[in-house]
Amino acid sequence: MAEENPDLLICGGGPAGMMAGLLFARAGVKTLVVEKHGDFLRDFRGDTVHPSTLELFHELGALDELLSRPHDKAVQLTGIIGGERMRIADFGHLPGPARFIALMPQWDFLDCVADLARASPAFTLRMNAEASDLLWDGDRVAGAICNGRPVRAKLVIAADGRRSLLRARASLPLEDLGAPIDVFWFRLSKDRTPDNRSTGVIATGRLLALLDRGDYWQCAYVFAKGMADAIRDRGLDPFRADVAAAAPFLADRVGELQSWDQVKLLTVELDRLTTWHRPGLLAIGDAAHAMSPIGGVGINLAIQDAVAAANLLAGPMADGSEVDDLLWRVQRRRMLPTRIVQAVQRAAQNRIIDRVVLKNVPITRPPAILRLMQRFPILQRIPAYLIGMGFRREHVRSPVA
Ligand SMILES: Cc1cc2nc3c(=O)[nH]c(=O)nc-3n(C[C@H](O)[C@H](O)[C@H](O)COP(=O)(O)OP(=O)(O)OC[C@H]3O[C@@H](n4cnc5c(N)ncnc54)[C@H](O)[C@@H]3O)c2cc1C
Repeated sequence: MAEENPDLLICGGGPAGMMAGLLFARAGVKTLVVEKHGDFLRDFRGDTVHPSTLELFHELGALDELLSRPHDKAVQLTGIIGGERMRIADFGHLPGPARFIALMPQWDFLDCVADLARASPAFTLRMNAEASDLLWDGDRVAGAICNGRPVRAKLVIAADGRRSLLRARASLPLEDLGAPIDVFWFRLSKDRTPDNRSTGVIATGRLLALLDRGDYWQCAYVFAKGMADAIRDRGLDPFRADVAAAAPFLADRVGELQSWDQVKLLTVELDRLTTWHRPGLLAIGDAAHAMSPIGGVGINLAIQDAVAAANLLAGPMADGSEVDDLLWRVQRRRMLPTRIVQAVQRAAQNRIIDRVVLKNVPITRPPAILRLMQRFPILQRIPAYLIGMGFRREHVRSPVA
């Protein structure tokens, strides 16, 4: 069984680890994924599956299977800026099989990937299994300690998220890019509408992202880093009033917030490893680069890393070759898109968030570029392409056993 003696040990069953597990096992590489939680049921995680990711499922012949799971479709993104609703991105004209963002609970997405992966006899997923350290052969990573027991493998993929233990144990160098914001996540009920109304609200001193999840809003309230306790100390009433002032159409719903237990804190981080690998180990996804929630790109970049890793490594591993000398190629392939997306996120942090949230600059009317985009809707295709398809998007090229 793959579990006893895997060729590939993947630590972390998030989007990066599960997608890598699916692709390597599909190529015939004996793959074990260990996930420390007992299920994928974690609320308030990245739920935006972009057209570039949907295209990958199409290439795997699994798009219908994925879209048979519960989801909503966002064909357009809007923003409410200074009280005016503006269309920002129109995905309806993108190339490819899916011209929308699928808003799908991450556990449904991961369940689907797990089901697809289980079709390969080379795949094993072990839940409630935590990697606590690495195993070494001299300077080379030779496996990991999982639930206190050594598991040896030819390659370890660290896909254990933005607080990656394995990247720390491997002493991979981390560059902190700084994120001046944190986010409160909460739900408010919503009446179903025929179209998806996901939007962002920018008002003086306030910034909210609202994901339309059919019968509820998933709300992200952005504030200056480190201010969570101060906001909580002021009490729920001022917080509810603040949300209602930013988005008056939520005024009759904010009363649903009865306790701070309903409001989860996301500490935003923006960082990346300057080296993603060492002999025997490769970091991908958030373990290699924690993304800001701006643009909702985290899952999609994590999955692109997994596809790139499988494209470069799964064939040679299935043939029984050593891949230590190939690991740098995964970093070379994925570093540029990571840098570009993080640069855009930093620019958004500095230009918009800094002015709105940190400096309280009055927002009276939308910027000229957005007004131009309303006059010439064709311009809305540009942000749609950049958000939906990303930079240097991957295609599935790894072999099928
Ligand atoms: C509140 C919030 C909202 C977000 N919103 C969005 C969004 O709307 N769109 C978007 O694209 N992205 C969003 N993101 C980011 C997105 O969730 C991540 O970028 C993405 O999940 C990264 O995938 P990953 O597989 O690299 O890491 P993760 O999803 O973090 O998965 C890592 C997995 O490893 C497991 N693990 C950790 N340590 C160990 C260990 N030692 N042993 C075994 N298992 C371990 C964890 O339990 C987890 O399942 C959001 C993130 C948060 C926190």
